[in-house]
Amino acid sequence: MMRTLVVFANLLVLLLIGAPNLAHNQATRTQQPKSAADEAKDFRAYVEKRLKKDDKKLEDICPIDTNIVARRVFKDYGAMFIADSNVEFPPKCVFRDENEVTAFQTNLDKKTVAIGARTVELQETAAEALEDAIKAAAKQGLTITPRGASASRRNYADTFRIWKSRFDPALAHWVKNKKISEQDAEIARKMETIDQVAQVIEWEKNGWWFSTGMNRSIFSSVAAPGTSQHLSMLALDVAEFSDKRVRKVLNEHGWYQTIIDDTPHFTYLGLSEEELPKRGLIPESKDGYIFWIPNISAELPPKKDKADKR
Ligand SMILES: [Zn+2]
Repeated sequence: MMRTLVVFANLLVLLLIGAPNLAHNQATRTQQPKSAADEAKDFRAYVEKRLKKDDKKLEDICPIDTNIVARRVFKDYGAMFIADSNVEFPPKCVFRDENEVTAFQTNLDKKTVAIGARTVELQETAAEALEDAIKAAAKQGLTITPRGASASRRNYADTFRIWKSRFDPALAHWVKNKKISEQDAEIARKMETIDQVAQVIEWEKNGWWFSTGMNRSIFSSVAAPGTSQHLSMLALDVAEFSDKRVRKVLNEHGWYQTIIDDTPHFTYLGLSEEELPKRGLIPESKDGYIFWIPNISAELPPKKDKADKR
């Protein structure tokens, strides 16, 4: 009788202690699935881990803690650094000059694809994925064609020319509107390119925008000289970007929009959509488009003062 009572008491204790635990476990298991954005890994950590395998540091590739331009470029165009291992990403996020760009492009496996009257030149895996996408699109009666004459491979001079086409008129505009003095403008015109870019970042913080319409950031349509994904031969500007079906086909073949507001611009990542958050990209919806961008906004260091711009 005594023994039965003890067993009973033990059972009671077990029930009292165990039951809430059981209920708790169940609640944990039935939690709502997280969204892709919640589950996204940390972009910087992913890139650092990847570089470490090659005995490299982020600081050597893209010094985001000390250089304002590198920081900006890493955040805005960094998506390519998590691309599939068949893709060659550049040895640095800001190419200094034409020689550096040429040295990188020369050693790549490249392929030229003829599309109608135009040709595009890309890294081989990117080109092959594009060819497959074009075939898949054709089955749905759709086309994928380059937008403009320099839709894929570019050189340093191209990026410099495009930068100047925005920088010069915008600077003249803000001088005329007495926001920037002629003296400061002249100093900026003579700066080394990377310092000039840093200066534009500073000016734009005041709302003195350097886009064509002087109403948006210059970076919404132009990459700083030496920083474009087109230099890495992993980007294509697509004429049919506004067609949702075309975007879907491109996505299914590893091509994604990765730069906010640059809607015609697609980047070859060579990855499935499920893989992107695992590598630190988050989907940002804007105007019906989805841009896959680096998940780093929260951890970028606070803005540095002018002494840090180098
Ligand atoms: Zn582009």
